[in-house]
Amino acid sequence: MTALHAPGDWQDSAACRGHSAAVFFAPAHFERKDVRAARERQAKAVCASCAVRAECLQYALRIREPHGIWGGMSEVERRSLTS
Ligand code: SF4
Repeated sequence: MTALHAPGDWQDSAACRGHSAAVFFAPAHFERKDVRAARERQAKAVCASCAVRAECLQYALRIREPHGIWGGMSEVERRSLTS
C-alpha cells in the first residue's frame, strides 16, 4: 500500500502523486545501506513539501504501517514513536 491508496480524502493532496512507489518503499531484494539512505532522503524531500504530511503520518501510526516512508518518517522512526 502507498499513501495514495490509503482510505480518506487527504491523499488527494499528496505530494507523492506521480512519484514512483519504489522511492518510498524498500525493494524486495537486498538494498545497500547507502542506497537505502539515498532513497529515503529522496522520499523525505517529497514529504517535506506535502500539505497532508500530518494526516499521512497519523494514518501510518494508527494502522501501524510496517513499511515505507509515510509522513516523512521511515518505519524505524515511526516505531520509535509508538514503542
Ligand atoms: S507525507 Fe509523503 S508519503 Fe505521505 S502523502 Fe505526503 S508525500 Fe506522500
